[in-house]
Amino acid sequence: MTFGTHTKELALHVVMYHYVRDLPRTRYPRIKGILLDEFRQQIAWLAAHYEMATLEVALEFLRGTYRPARDLCIFTFDDGLKEHFADVVPILLEYKIQGLFGVITSCIEDHIVAPVHMNHFLMAEMNFDAYQSVFMQRLQETEPDALASAYVDRATAQKSYPLDTREVATFKFLFNFSLDANVRDKIVEDLFEEYIGDQESFASKLYMSWDEIRQIQRAGMLVAGHTHWHRPLSTLTDEELNRDLCISRSLLDENLEPQKLWPFSYPYGKKNSYSDEAMRLLQQLGFTCAFNTENGANTSMTPVFELNRIDCNGVIQQLQG
Ligand SMILES: [Zn+2]
Repeated sequence: MTFGTHTKELALHVVMYHYVRDLPRTRYPRIKGILLDEFRQQIAWLAAHYEMATLEVALEFLRGTYRPARDLCIFTFDDGLKEHFADVVPILLEYKIQGLFGVITSCIEDHIVAPVHMNHFLMAEMNFDAYQSVFMQRLQETEPDALASAYVDRATAQKSYPLDTREVATFKFLFNFSLDANVRDKIVEDLFEEYIGDQESFASKLYMSWDEIRQIQRAGMLVAGHTHWHRPLSTLTDEELNRDLCISRSLLDENLEPQKLWPFSYPYGKKNSYSDEAMRLLQQLGFTCAFNTENGANTSMTPVFELNRIDCNGVIQQLQG
């Protein structure tokens, strides 16, 4: 009998979550997220197949100073949602798993709803066609020039939002990447107040507070930076980029428990949403590593400021396949 010298290279799988909630029982059942039961099933399957690692261990593996018996897996949760505190952390604690929670500092500090989330809730409230039509009408009326100068490449849009229909992906790309952010914010804030209600009270129900975030830190969870304004970093000027990341970094330091490791996750997260300058600045500000949303596994060859993630939708099928 002979043994090959080639062994399958081990990998780190990072699973990415956003909304985790019992959608049919919520006020906004059309929000795109994963149900709690499905989340439990995924944890059970992943914990049976992989070593559920802390970030510290995962980084040792990437550096080559730790060789596990099987592939590693870690969980990330973006946007600092209240359900992460209320529902997700208790389940992670049952399984003794460390989660990484990317928080948007302006939402916590100033009680505002991030435009990306206003967009989600308006689509869920009004249905897509009605919302898109009223949004575009407002845009035409108030800032026709902003629309004329906003360009959307449909293929790029679809790649950025693979789970959405072509129409929704195109609109989301226009909204999140192409439109002038100030013009966009004004329109979406008005529509949000008209169709949904007061931003401040909505924000305090949607996001974890500083106190809740400190509680999950004390329970063993790690907080990750996820910017101050949740804009695609690649669309910012150097000055805006600097301002966003510096504000976010100092709010995390002022309000939270110290952490030895500070991960970061890029808003939106595809390669076109961040830049070399963003990576350089994150490093300079003391972040340890950063996650994008490019689909795939990570090995010692993967740059630590461009760690890939797998979306929770279909994660088991993908890893089985
Ligand atoms: Zn986000």
